[in-house]
Amino acid sequence: MSICGVALALLITSSLMKSKRARGNAAAEKPYVASINNELAHELTNKNIRTLGLIQAAIDHTADSVLWIAEDGSLIYANQAACQWLDYTRDELMTKTIFDVDPVVRKEEWRILWASVRTLRAHTFESVHRSRDGTDFPVEITSSYLEFNGRGYISAFARDITERRHIERALREAESKYRDIFENAVEGMFQSAPAGELISCNPAMIRIYGYDSAEEFKSAVIAGRIYVEAGHREKFVQLIQEHGWTTGFESQVYRKDGSIIWTSEKARVVRDERGDLLYYEGFVEEITERKRIAEELHKAKEAAEAANLTKSEFLANVSHEIRTPMNGIIGMTDLVLGTDLTQEQREYLDIVRSSADSLLSLINDLLDFSKMEAGKLRLDPIEFMLRPTLDSIFNTLALRAQRKSLELSCNIFPDVPDALIGDPDRLRQILLNLVDNAIKFTEKGSIILHIRSELESAEKAVLCFSVTDTGIGIPKDKQRLIFEAFSQADNSMTRKYGGTGLGLAICCQLVEIMGGEIALESKPGQGSAFHVTIPFTLPERAVDTLPNQTASAELRDLRALIIDDNYANRRILQGILINWHMKPYIADSGPSGLSALNEAAETGDPFNLVLLDAMMPGMDGFAVADLIRATPCISNTPIILLSSADAKSCLARCRKLGIRAYLMKPVKHAHLHDAILRTLPEALLMSAHVAPTPDYQEPYDRDRVRDQDLPHPGKLHILLAEDNPTNQLLVISLLRRQGHSVLAAANGKQAVAAFANGKFDLIVMDVQMPEMDGLEATAAIRALEKATGDRTPILALTAHTMEADRDRCLAAGMDAYVSKPISTNEFMSVIGRLVTAGIDEDITNDPEESHPQRLDTRDLMARFDGDTELLLETAEIFRQSYPKQLEELRAAVTRGDAVGVERAAHTIKGSVGNFGGVAAIEAALKLEKMGRSQDLRHATESCATLEFEIERLVPAIMELV
Ligand code: ADP
Repeated sequence: MSICGVALALLITSSLMKSKRARGNAAAEKPYVASINNELAHELTNKNIRTLGLIQAAIDHTADSVLWIAEDGSLIYANQAACQWLDYTRDELMTKTIFDVDPVVRKEEWRILWASVRTLRAHTFESVHRSRDGTDFPVEITSSYLEFNGRGYISAFARDITERRHIERALREAESKYRDIFENAVEGMFQSAPAGELISCNPAMIRIYGYDSAEEFKSAVIAGRIYVEAGHREKFVQLIQEHGWTTGFESQVYRKDGSIIWTSEKARVVRDERGDLLYYEGFVEEITERKRIAEELHKAKEAAEAANLTKSEFLANVSHEIRTPMNGIIGMTDLVLGTDLTQEQREYLDIVRSSADSLLSLINDLLDFSKMEAGKLRLDPIEFMLRPTLDSIFNTLALRAQRKSLELSCNIFPDVPDALIGDPDRLRQILLNLVDNAIKFTEKGSIILHIRSELESAEKAVLCFSVTDTGIGIPKDKQRLIFEAFSQADNSMTRKYGGTGLGLAICCQLVEIMGGEIALESKPGQGSAFHVTIPFTLPERAVDTLPNQTASAELRDLRALIIDDNYANRRILQGILINWHMKPYIADSGPSGLSALNEAAETGDPFNLVLLDAMMPGMDGFAVADLIRATPCISNTPIILLSSADAKSCLARCRKLGIRAYLMKPVKHAHLHDAILRTLPEALLMSAHVAPTPDYQEPYDRDRVRDQDLPHPGKLHILLAEDNPTNQLLVISLLRRQGHSVLAAANGKQAVAAFANGKFDLIVMDVQMPEMDGLEATAAIRALEKATGDRTPILALTAHTMEADRDRCLAAGMDAYVSKPISTNEFMSVIGRLVTAGIDEDITNDPEESHPQRLDTRDLMARFDGDTELLLETAEIFRQSYPKQLEELRAAVTRGDAVGVERAAHTIKGSVGNFGGVAAIEAALKLEKMGRSQDLRHATESCATLEFEIERLVPAIMELV
């Protein structure tokens, strides 16, 4: 007998003996057990008994439950685990049968099981065991059949598989969930072999491609009947192999019925542990609809862009169409205004003129807005001077403020740099709009533009421009809205103030593209403050033109008394004078000013100068001046009168009171500086180099006029090509008034024919004309000129204001352009510039003969045909444009750009030539020559001289009128 057989026998014996003890005479029921004992007893040695004891202990303590079952199902052995699991004592279990502990096994099944285990000798299966309290738990049973002494037994090793069952159930559930997803997904899922054949795919995949079964689809894949584009699958494979995955791989594919759809694939490579490629797996999504929508969106976007372009073109065309008749209205009104009219007729025509101006500015706003919408609002940065730029704003608006009796002032903090790089025109546009609005929405009080520097480094200055008013204010809930296009705080039908609501929207956009910010503080009834912060680049070597720097030498330590009732004005004037190193004192009324003057005189330290506000409550400026002149110790004090009122109305009174200078508010730095220099006795000035100029408030004096040989276009023979009869008449009248002779052509073709048969000093050419437009005509004329080598200047008249149109004119061979509606002065000054370019040399014939620096009034009046309005307008244009021209010149000098110096000086020479500012012309000419001869060694000094001369010329021109 093997050891195992012995062990089993022992087990059975021990078990039976125990059960015998437990059951008393139960042994009688099982006589075969006793006989085993007898047979074995003598074979057992002590050693064997110890070994067997160990085996029994091992079985008893094994984790599995061990049961021995006889053929009738009765239990004849149970180990400790079995007792614990089933919750019986071993003795109790020995009274049970397999049917008690395994509810699955019935007598019939037991018989079958018995037979099968007996045949197979071992059998593993799953069943259920039931413990004492009736709890069932799943078990895996390994049963073996053993025969001993002709009897058979089944040993059942049972293992509790409750845990395993749980895991299996969870696995099953997970598996079914994923299968569900796979089966019911909307996206196609696939696994495909590297060679291309499909390993598996879900129903959605088959549905997308329109097949009836996976097999059908698989064979279509193998046959290569999927991708429309040849080599597309190879692209897919290449991508996925390069990166290990691909996403959004779009393809056009055939469905089973031959129709073509769009798909998008996402896939990855699956590799084994060694990194060898196993297969690809991924998702397929049908995107035909998405593609269609994207295509439609793309088309819609293109259509919208085209529509936007059409709109821009439409606006440009409408603007052109409006400008053409406006040219007639404005030009003809100007012509009529230049004739003898009754007061009433003049008033009516003034209204026509100002309405036309408003209409024009509206069109400009609309054009800007259309550019803004089309994203075409561009900046044109140049080096420029801030203060002259601001002056030009106030020149434009002072009259409007004055009409409403509003105080308009500008306060520039001393540390604000003057030379900047930026777009002065756009800055002017922003500030003009803000100050204009402030005037519009203020009935009483003041408007102040404060400018301070928020940050300044060597390269950059951030300037803050604040426009404050004491007007109607803006309610909180409207403060955001007004920055939107076409929005106004008051949009009721009964609103008091006109406007398009475009101004601030354009400002916002401009500020934004300048890299700045705009903010608003306002309280209804109290006023508003618009703050604009804009960064500017500083020029590498700023030209020293700050008023304080140019003026400090002459004005240092001069004592000035400012008499003004307005606090802001006092402060501003004080700031300016301190800048110039003067010693300013202030008085807020006539009487206090007078006592300050007297006191100072008595103490032996009199004031050198009085800056006197003309309009003050109680005692006005004239009364104060009167008293000054009447008080012996102060009677000689020079007085500069500052007023918002019209100059002409005060002139006589000023003269009577011996007031030598009169300035319009807001006071411009350059003008004040100039006025002080001219007002003070020379002995007081530290530097004597400023030549005295005539008392500029003197009326126009024909006796002082001298004949001079100044550059003047003279009488020109002009060819005019213009199809519009009104414009033709207007231009002919304007030109004839200047003494020119004009031949008119109704289109480009006629103009070319006229040019071929005649000689002209100038051609004025409309751009849009029937039959042959201005550009073609210019090209034809330039071609004809090739034979002679001559070049006749061509001036374009264009109603288009887009830069591109202007560039086209110049590119076509034209020399300059004037936009419609024509501004008479601009027109004349451009003509002057174009034709005097040819007579430059005349001026230089005798360089020794230096003309004195003063205006030749007779020549000036002759030039403007005695038309003071025209002179004033031309002067205004000049005053607005010369800062930019000077900036360009300065920039060219700084760059060492000889050609640029020549060009800029030439332009300036033409501009000042309109007024016969001889010294300025000479200075410009000198620079022009330096440029031409490429010798810029003394250009900086000459540039400063030219600036000086121009600054002196400007007030002289203004005051002549
Ligand atoms: P508009 O041409 O109508 O003046 P803007 O865009 O310049 O267009 O201004 C929009 C609106 O903002 C104005 O209609 C007005 O209601 C309000 N607004 C602008 N500036 C001021 C101001 N200084 N005071 C009061 N309201 C103002």
